[in-house]
Amino acid sequence: MNINNFYETERFKRNTTVKSIGTQGQQTLFDKKVLVAGAGGLGSGVISGLVSVGIGTIGIIDPDIVEISNLNRQFIHTEASVGKLKVESAYEWVKNYSPKTGIVIHKTRIEEGSDVEFFKDYDLIIDCFDSYKSKFILNKICIQIGLPLIHGGVEDFYGQVLTIIAGRSSCLNCLFETPDTQAKRTIGVISPAVNVISSIQSMEAVKFLLGFDDLLVDTLLTYNGLGQEFKKINLYKKPLCTGCGDF
Ligand SMILES: [Zn+2]
Repeated sequence: MNINNFYETERFKRNTTVKSIGTQGQQTLFDKKVLVAGAGGLGSGVISGLVSVGIGTIGIIDPDIVEISNLNRQFIHTEASVGKLKVESAYEWVKNYSPKTGIVIHKTRIEEGSDVEFFKDYDLIIDCFDSYKSKFILNKICIQIGLPLIHGGVEDFYGQVLTIIAGRSSCLNCLFETPDTQAKRTIGVISPAVNVISSIQSMEAVKFLLGFDDLLVDTLLTYNGLGQEFKKINLYKKPLCTGCGDF
């Protein structure tokens, strides 16, 4: 996309009117590639956030199909997409909403030892996975490859966001030393909590890609929907961390 084209000028006028974005910042966003890991609840919010703001290319990873129980929160999928691959349903949503957005789908499950060479095509990764196991694997991969990661997690009325800069900042393992990644339970989650967290992840992405300071680096932002309370918790990079430590 090119901000000098009439279509882009009109479509993103309210973005470029924001003084700290302008036409130059908008072109920067057009030129960026962001990989969204998971096309579920957080993924729905993040994909719609990134497409709306004008990220030029969005990659989406998800091996799963749409199930009826996803529809309490995963709004880019519909009842008509039940049984389809989530990446295909997400692709249709993006193409309907913004035909000029580039979209690359990856129907793959990310596990230890997965081929993640394609990650290197992207400027930023956003963690929208729903399982703890996948989140910690993604954390490790991004640190090993040297890619920035915006983590988000939601449960019940609560959520959290952390931006992880490989080699420089604390990571998920600094936060949870021995995560219970084997736990197999269905987590309760409601759409307003998911939408708060995915919006904060999208905001972090825009700020990171535009080179703004004051990101949630070494700072865990937590959200309590019951008390309507946000808190910031300072984190420190642990030298012997199993995720980001030097070995
Ligand atoms: Zn760490």
